Amino acid sequence: MKITLINPSLMRQDELRWDKGGTYPPLGLCYIAAVLRNNKHEVNIIDGEALRITGEKLKERLLKDRPQVIGITSHTPKFNQLLDTIKTIKELNLQAAIVVGGPHISLIPEKTMKQIPQIAYAVIGEGEYTFLELVNSIENKQPIEKVNGIAYRQGDKIILTSPRDYIKNLDELPLPARDLLPNIAGECYSNAFRYKQLPMTSVITSRGCPYACIFCARIFGARYRMHSFDKVMEEIRHLVKNYGIKEIIFVDDTFIVDIERTIKICNALKEQKLGLTWSCHGRIDILYKHPELIPLMKNSGCWYISLGIESGNAEVLKKIRKNITLEQVDSVVNQLNSAGIHTKGFFMIGHPYDTKESIRDTIDFAKSLPLGSVQFSYTIPYPGTELFDIAINHGFFEGDSYEKMSSHTAGFPVYSPPGVPIEYLKAIQKKAYREFYFRPSFLLKHLVKINSFQSLKKYSERGFVYFKSLFLKK
Ligand code: SF4
Repeated sequence: MKITLINPSLMRQDELRWDKGGTYPPLGLCYIAAVLRNNKHEVNIIDGEALRITGEKLKERLLKDRPQVIGITSHTPKFNQLLDTIKTIKELNLQAAIVVGGPHISLIPEKTMKQIPQIAYAVIGEGEYTFLELVNSIENKQPIEKVNGIAYRQGDKIILTSPRDYIKNLDELPLPARDLLPNIAGECYSNAFRYKQLPMTSVITSRGCPYACIFCARIFGARYRMHSFDKVMEEIRHLVKNYGIKEIIFVDDTFIVDIERTIKICNALKEQKLGLTWSCHGRIDILYKHPELIPLMKNSGCWYISLGIESGNAEVLKKIRKNITLEQVDSVVNQLNSAGIHTKGFFMIGHPYDTKESIRDTIDFAKSLPLGSVQFSYTIPYPGTELFDIAINHGFFEGDSYEKMSSHTAGFPVYSPPGVPIEYLKAIQKKAYREFYFRPSFLLKHLVKINSFQSLKKYSERGFVYFKSLFLKK
């Protein structure tokens, strides 16, 4: 069958002028495309996010592809863009079946299909084999209800089939079909924040998470599944050989859960002299228990680690089940800093248990650490999370304002705990950034790093995105 997969633009048409931030290749769609293609389907990907494709441009692409099935990925912060995309498709009268997958519909399939009647099928959870079986069933006119992991319509009803098991062996998946994207080594995938060298790209080496933070939906389950060391290295060598990649961002929720594999990857990156620099998302408790990883990571090219710290208040940390302590954070961030690895700390303000005082603790704690950069996000109770259920009954919550649930730096607070008004959250977020970044010691430390045109360009891009996120959003 002819299938087009769409990653909707991050911005709506009227917002595109502000969109200067970087983006990563939509690897989820690339994995699905690779599986479909291996099974003789003809697949295209439209990365609306990278190419800023909306409206008329999207129509042109679809008229060229003329797909029989259109798959769209759904993320809560891009809910309005999903609506726009489906409206555009419908205006074309293509007679294509619309299938929606991704985190948003996976967490609330019935509600989403009720809200958007044009969606014929939902693919729930991991999409590769579900999508394949679904299009095979459509093509061969076989009973849809036998496909596990979907939702479909029967008259006015929405029927969910049996859940699909998670893929046990991720190595059986083909390499993601990055060749269906615009040049992955090109400008549209250059993230202003995360590279030492270009070209850069992202790799995902694991799915699932064994932790249980209350604000996280863990759509790939609680069991950590990972590509083997050999498969990870095969993909890295493929990227170096075929795209000349020099910088890798491991976009796993947590890259370093398996210590043995992390050590092997670090050693191989160093020994094979691929000339790569890389970054990842780490976990405080793992690095605290295994500080031996830090020099290994550094010596293999790791220069940047982002860390979910979330709060500077011990009680709040416990209640959100982050499973880390302030002492661990302090120790790990200092060790990473001493090793010369840039650390980015992710904090959330407005947890259900936050007070004005505990938010102050968070800002002060962030400032006490030698972090290279920070993100102070509003707490967003995404559908399908434990936090969502708590927020409904505790504080102020605009539960249906999906378009406001942007995880980006600015976003809009959709939730505030009792005693912390929305307006206070907006003001304190700006204050937090100002206090963190405009310290003379911080500015001086970073100004001395501007020693080339490349670094000046990078810092300027960062500055623009930061300035935009704080001051230009409506
Ligand atoms: S926030 Fe990160 S560590 Fe916590 S449950 Fe989600 S993926 Fe796991």
